[in-house]
Amino acid sequence: MYDVLILGAGPAGLGAAIYAARAGLSLAVIDQSPISGGQVLNTYEVDNYLGLMGETGGGLSDKFREHADKLGTEFITDEVQSVEDKGDKKIVHCYEGDYEAKTLILATGATHSMLGVPGEEKLSGMGVSYCATCDGAFFRNRTVAVVGGGDVAVEDAIFLSKLCKKVYLIHRRDTLRAVKSLQEQLFAKENVELVWDSEVTEICGTNAVEKITLYHKKKQQASELEVNGIFIAVGIVPNTELFRGLVELDERGYIKAGEDCISSCGGIYAAGDIRLKPMRQIITAVADGANAVNAVQSYLHKI
Ligand code: NDP
Repeated sequence: MYDVLILGAGPAGLGAAIYAARAGLSLAVIDQSPISGGQVLNTYEVDNYLGLMGETGGGLSDKFREHADKLGTEFITDEVQSVEDKGDKKIVHCYEGDYEAKTLILATGATHSMLGVPGEEKLSGMGVSYCATCDGAFFRNRTVAVVGGGDVAVEDAIFLSKLCKKVYLIHRRDTLRAVKSLQEQLFAKENVELVWDSEVTEICGTNAVEKITLYHKKKQQASELEVNGIFIAVGIVPNTELFRGLVELDERGYIKAGEDCISSCGGIYAAGDIRLKPMRQIITAVADGANAVNAVQSYLHKI
């Protein structure tokens, strides 16, 4: 039986792994993918991680994994099916087998939200994408739209402006939610056009995206835009369905836990984007990993 099992190998999970390893705890990290990183892998360039300015998302993820690996972390590539709480023993049921631990750190991150408009599902992978760094190269010298006004949408638009002939950034309001430094970079791009106060109402095309229809909320006017691709960046949903009934969630599915990462279930901790918190950044996810291990240690002393 492990002292702690960490579910998820993104920044929160790997941050927890290095703290647990250094504390001398027996641990393993379970992730369905052998490539660590979570959402960071979708980021082209990370400019807000202290000391590593300009690192690529993939590069930063590799460094995180290498660090955890060097400290002796055991990695298990398997998909979690369910989690059982038996008091002092937690059982994680996976496809390949079951794993037992005294404590768990849940760090399964979040997944992109869907826009929920006609044509989105049908054309997914045929011009509809949720990852600019993964799919941007398919649209070299072409025209694309990005939907959303947060950090991810603005980062995506900046990234795509370097590859594409023209990028439309479509936002449902007239101010962006993204951090100011990203907005400044965006506004300096000559091939990016901002489409304010507008919602995408349909994505059209037969075997590929051909155009999108828009609705301007203030003018109450419909219009069309010819694009070859559309990148959707309208927020995230936490990957917590497996933990429903095990720990308390809020109405949007985030795990209710404070900065100490303590969930409603004794011996189970929530770290990173799955936790209810005001700021979801790589650096705050890593910090959660450290705080979660601190709480694990206090718990282990008591049992
Ligand atoms: P956000 O929730 O920050 O932004 C989502 C955007 O999508 C908002 O502008 C929102 O509009 C818009 N939106 C939501 N639903 C719809 C809809 N149905 N139709 C049209 N537009 C919609 O999500 P992000 O994915 O941008 O970022 C997720 C988290 O990750 C954030 O906390 C972000 O700060 C963080 N992040 C951290 C990074 C780092 O640490 N380096 C890098 C990138 C992201 P409105 O503004 O009107 O609500």
